[in-house]
Amino acid sequence: MTQPLVDRFGRVHRDLRISLTDRCSLRCTYCMPAEGVPWLAGSTMLSTDELVRIAGVAVGLGVTEIRLTGGEPLLRPDVVDVVRRMAALTGPGGSPEVSLTTNALRLPALAAPLRDAGLARVNISIDTLDRERFAALTRRDRLHDTLAGIAAADAVGFSPIKLNAVAMRGVNDDEVVDLVRFAVERGYQMRFIEQMPLDAGHTWDRTAMVTQAEILASLRAAFELTEVPGRGSAPAETWYVDGGPATVGVIASVTAPFCGTCDRVRLTADGQLRSCLFARSETDLRTLLREGADDDALAAAFRACLAGKKPGHDIDDPTFLQPDRPMSAIGG
Ligand code: SAM
Ligand code: SF4
Repeated sequence: MTQPLVDRFGRVHRDLRISLTDRCSLRCTYCMPAEGVPWLAGSTMLSTDELVRIAGVAVGLGVTEIRLTGGEPLLRPDVVDVVRRMAALTGPGGSPEVSLTTNALRLPALAAPLRDAGLARVNISIDTLDRERFAALTRRDRLHDTLAGIAAADAVGFSPIKLNAVAMRGVNDDEVVDLVRFAVERGYQMRFIEQMPLDAGHTWDRTAMVTQAEILASLRAAFELTEVPGRGSAPAETWYVDGGPATVGVIASVTAPFCGTCDRVRLTADGQLRSCLFARSETDLRTLLREGADDDALAAAFRACLAGKKPGHDIDDPTFLQPDRPMSAIGG
């Protein structure tokens, strides 16, 4: 039987995050500068066949979850085809659950075909419910389109719908209660993310980051929160809101890192495998693939990449160095 993808610390990797493109239709201040970033060259981007081939090797090694992200994954013209082919892969754990993280702008057109193609779940980013704030924060006046995208995902039956917001001091931290109310009223799950040092402009500042403790304090002023047990390897810690069933989550990557249970490995749109968001080295699967490597050689490259995985990211350590690639090119 194939050995699972286990690293030196005994962590078994079952979750592959794939960046389908580094391009984006928004310019969120915590992610990209206004002018964007130097985009990856088209010739370096993996084709659909190459993506599916690598995903197939991962599924053969026990990966059971594939999350498509970016940049904005829905900008990839063949995204529906990618979903269909990935959902049809099979391995020792069966077929993978394929999910997507998106800004939702293209969901009104794509929610139905994506669901038909086998997409299991969507996570949608929405940092504010205020139109002017949204325009300032994303540098595009498109709150209406994100809201229409959320409604479209709901209408075709995606469930649960998780909404993600990066909490920022003086920007949207006064909206955490409103965002939870918006989600709870519609049956969605709100999740807040601590801002991480992954922006292309390298503007991250520890003091500007809103911590999990601060988010919970604001929420507890409005709701009764009780911890949901059994977190497993999930990045979000979750609480029942006013006794449930609605829940709210916080992804406290900086103040309460969850590296000890991490089961994630990442593939960039140009075919580089990364053992961590914050890794400072990558394994070049694209070159291997284009030089004719067989599945065994690709599987060995997966294992070699994970053999170098560090126990944690050390963001809070003074020696921490931000990775060269921004979040949009790694795949959040
Ligand atoms: N464009 C899609 C979206 O926004 O959902 C997918 C890619 S985006 C990089 C994935 C997630 O990363 C989003 O929820 C976004 O808010 C989050 N993100 C981006 N930059 C971040 C940062 N510096 N710290 C924490 N989360 C960040
Ligand atoms: Fe685009 Fe997502 Fe980055 Fe915002 S967070 S700029 S939507 S990739």
